[in-house]
Amino acid sequence: MMVQLQGLLSTISVLDIIDIVVVAYFLYRLYLMLKNTRAATLGKGLLVLVGFMLICRWLNLHVISWLLEKSMTVIMVALPVVFQPELRRALEQIGRGKLFHKSSELDEQELEEMLDSVAHATKIMSKNKVGALMVFERATGLVERTATGVPVDGLVGSGLIQNIFVKDTPLHDGAIIIRGNRIVAACCLLPLTENRNLSQELGTRHRAAIGMSEQSDAMVLVVSEETGTISIARNGELMRYLTVDDVKDILRTAIFKPHTTGKNSIVDKLKNLLGGEKK
Ligand code: ATP
Ligand code: MG
Repeated sequence: MMVQLQGLLSTISVLDIIDIVVVAYFLYRLYLMLKNTRAATLGKGLLVLVGFMLICRWLNLHVISWLLEKSMTVIMVALPVVFQPELRRALEQIGRGKLFHKSSELDEQELEEMLDSVAHATKIMSKNKVGALMVFERATGLVERTATGVPVDGLVGSGLIQNIFVKDTPLHDGAIIIRGNRIVAACCLLPLTENRNLSQELGTRHRAAIGMSEQSDAMVLVVSEETGTISIARNGELMRYLTVDDVKDILRTAIFKPHTTGKNSIVDKLKNLLGGEKK
């Protein structure tokens, strides 16, 4: 057994390992892109169908296997038609070279400006008890969520955020989705959590925030209309009674990626390694 294993290991070259790592990374990125989208649900359906087909084949159920095989061919032909918008978007991303790094990455200064605007708007809305719901997109793409709302594509600014959430205005209902330092859309509908152990005082706004954070890695900021309290949902958990400084710290930690802190980051790291920056 050990000899066999050793024999097997000796046949694995460095190139094989690189091959496996690249494929694994590609599949992981694909999973992040598709997670929480229509395609993911369809993928699960297809897996069930393939599983069923294999079982039928194993049991020698010829007619069912034949029918399933034929329908698989039809499905494969239909897929590009059904997912035409998603495919076009993916191809466009590859064209712009943005498949493997997100277009929304901010440098340190852009991030701080964005956090200041969010914090300022949150402070004022909390004081005036204006309800707000803000989703900060991270690795999981929320393109399908933004499609439930109204496109905005505006630079995050305290004024813009406050304006959107003014009660009884057309865009105040639902959530805004923020990608990088841009508000991509407003009025977006988020999935409600099914968690039954939540406090009764949490209504649909807070449940939508928690639901969104369960289904993606997004951070969701909530300002309560009833109490003015500020909360952030992350990984299905709600952090409540936050101050604006907490908000900035939590979001900064979640969004800040040291390797993307601007064009000079690698140079800075090298300088640090070589004993600090020259004065
Ligand atoms: P608050 O403390 O602000 O009252 P709450 O948790 O008690 O919040 P509700 O009073 O039910 O929640 O808030 C209703 C508002 O929440 C709606 O007007 C809408 O703007 C928003 N909301 C509710 N459900 C969703 C959803 N699924 N997606 C996005 N926004 C939602
Ligand atoms: Mg309420």
